Amino acid sequence: MSENKVPYKIYLEEDEMPKAWYNLRADMKNKPAPLLNPGTGKPLSAEELSPIFCEELVQQELDETTPYIDIPDEIREFYRMYRPSPLVRAYCLEKKLDTPAKIYYKFEGNNTSGSHKLNSAIAQAYYAKKQGLKGVTTETGAGQWGTALSMACSYFDLDCKVYMVKVSYEQKPFRREVMRTYGASVVPSPSETTDVGKKILAEHPGTTGSLGCAISEAVEVATKNPGYRYVLGSVLNQVLLHQSVIGLETKTALDKYDIHPDMIIGCAGGGSNLGGLIAPFMGEKLRGEADYRIIAVEPASCPSFTRGKFAYDFCDTGMICPLAKMYTLGSSFIPSPNHAGGLRFHGMSSTLSQLYHDGLMEAVSVEQTEVFEAAEQFARVEGILPAPESSHAIRVAINEAMKCKETGEEKTIVFGLTGTGYFDLVAYEKYNNGEMSDEIPTDEQIAESLAKLPQI
Ligand SMILES: *Cc1c(COP(=O)(O)O)cnc(C)c1O
Repeated sequence: MSENKVPYKIYLEEDEMPKAWYNLRADMKNKPAPLLNPGTGKPLSAEELSPIFCEELVQQELDETTPYIDIPDEIREFYRMYRPSPLVRAYCLEKKLDTPAKIYYKFEGNNTSGSHKLNSAIAQAYYAKKQGLKGVTTETGAGQWGTALSMACSYFDLDCKVYMVKVSYEQKPFRREVMRTYGASVVPSPSETTDVGKKILAEHPGTTGSLGCAISEAVEVATKNPGYRYVLGSVLNQVLLHQSVIGLETKTALDKYDIHPDMIIGCAGGGSNLGGLIAPFMGEKLRGEADYRIIAVEPASCPSFTRGKFAYDFCDTGMICPLAKMYTLGSSFIPSPNHAGGLRFHGMSSTLSQLYHDGLMEAVSVEQTEVFEAAEQFARVEGILPAPESSHAIRVAINEAMKCKETGEEKTIVFGLTGTGYFDLVAYEKYNNGEMSDEIPTDEQIAESLAKLPQI
């Protein structure tokens, strides 16, 4: 079967793990727009950001010129527990689809948190510890980020307060227990523990919450408690920077076997795994050294790239966070509670937004029933139960492989398999029972939340 001698799993040696993160912004001609102070409308300075974020992370957030930033030894040591992660040739899926396409996936689910989020969580916890902080606050949607951060904080003995979107808190009690096992405190959001939470509850009684809302609460707690800072698991430049380990390892593994991908596919929530996976490839594209099709896949129920607007917007519902220029559905947009598959943030990384705006990557949206159909097809032959988020990428990888079957083209497809779906079995159950529906926002709904964009 392996006529070209590519093994099922390409494992790198420990010393092939990246020693530096790659900062894609350094190679971008059109840099992502800066974060703005919502009060003054001016770009935020390091001084203004440091009450919210750890100092070193502020530096990384603002650095758009240094291409490589060394990964501290303490972080590399932690990475060694679960990295390098395998790049898998999906021989069984190819056979099942009877496609001439060659399909590879980079699997990031090989750690207890079950996703790529640990790559940034451990970095953020490390810098908080180094600064002598007591703890960090954060939000979590589906729960993967909160889980990853809880693990990272317990490793460095930091306190961890997690605001968890209420609908997930209720649907995923086991996620919550993993976080508590790692010593984190978990509060369903919106809650009565913050001013912004009380305000949102008064305006929208019975709301199931949103990521934007949980972010507002976590930021409020971080800025009101001395020795605490806020950390975010996606969207920010610093998170994309840390996630570049995914792409750097993928590139090393492909180069080892002289494999040249035609397309790179990833799911996009806030854009961190995709930004990390594509980083070195997009770098080559920006420098004119190679070309790839790069495809972001988002849910039709939260379609920021494909139906949003490229504009400055708040990152949170409470409108207390900095403004970011991004593809957004408006910070008051809340996806239907029937949407099961994560990726529910209303905006998108400003780095990816700029690249998309400049025509350097594509985006497609897919409906959740077709996503779960792809998830099951994959699970049945590849031996991994994929996360619903990751399955957005699987869906489009399969679609592209089926196009190759029609045309006979032997394209090479690489996609990001960001995590496992063991905590998403309520969603799988719904799908298996035929109770899953596709809730797509109407143009009116999107227009309504876009009408509330800040006037900049
Ligand atoms: C959080 C998460 C995502 C989406 O977040 P990005 O920042 O867009 O990468 C995708 N897959 C899994 C498994 C996740 O936990």
